[in-house]
Amino acid sequence: MNDFDPALLRELIALLQGGGIEDAELEAKWILEDAGSAAQARDIAQHRAKHEPLQYLLGKWEFYGLTVFVGQGVLIPRADTETLVDAVLTRIPDRAGQRIADLCTGSGCIALALAAHMPQTAFTGADISEQALAYARKNKAYHKMQNAEFVCADVLSTAFAAQHHDLAAIVCNPPYLTAEDMQHLQAEVQFEPETALYGEADGLHFYREITRLWRAALCKGGLLAFEIGCTQGASAAAILAENGFTGIETIRDLNGNDRVVLGRRS
Ligand code: GLN
Repeated sequence: MNDFDPALLRELIALLQGGGIEDAELEAKWILEDAGSAAQARDIAQHRAKHEPLQYLLGKWEFYGLTVFVGQGVLIPRADTETLVDAVLTRIPDRAGQRIADLCTGSGCIALALAAHMPQTAFTGADISEQALAYARKNKAYHKMQNAEFVCADVLSTAFAAQHHDLAAIVCNPPYLTAEDMQHLQAEVQFEPETALYGEADGLHFYREITRLWRAALCKGGLLAFEIGCTQGASAAAILAENGFTGIETIRDLNGNDRVVLGRRS
């Protein structure tokens, strides 16, 4: 809304504070900016006070300088994941004729951020959830990104992996929370899809399976880059080493937590 109404702002802040929202003032301002009417602003604040993610209520969020549309059924892009995008951009030069796969693409935020900076490279984003892919396709259309396509597929399927060859890189932010983590989810995260969060009992299931199944889909020297949970660096690096990857690195995010593990197909 353009007309700034201090009384409405105070009302929204009070609503959010009543629900125990920490950054009530900042969020109230965002809601006010985004809402089309006072009634809509109040409605969003009421839902937010119940800890529904602000990103779902606004319907969009920023990731790597791109507006990404999100809603229930798709993981919300995290700032931490920008570390994964940077890791790929600084290692793989943009080249005509090369392809990169983004497995468990969700909203498509990683594939689209990379595609925006690598206009000659072709991207395939794959996800098992049609609901998530609807957002990925909407985001692709919104940004008119010609060099990214999205397919619905189980990335743990041997047959699907076997369809891919000579990839310059595989990038993946899989579900990696443990059974224990799932017991202690922040209220907001409980609104997000379990299929995008839960990586089986020890959180490492997707690292094991993808590393094993997709190694042969990479070109020689091709890059496999995973986002990881902050305690998973050593385990994920060991999985890459066991599968014959070399040049393995663990990279920290801006908060100083281990966030990316990557290696090259030897
Ligand atoms: N980073 C997310 C969280 O902490 C987890 C996302 C994922 O499993 N890839 O909630």
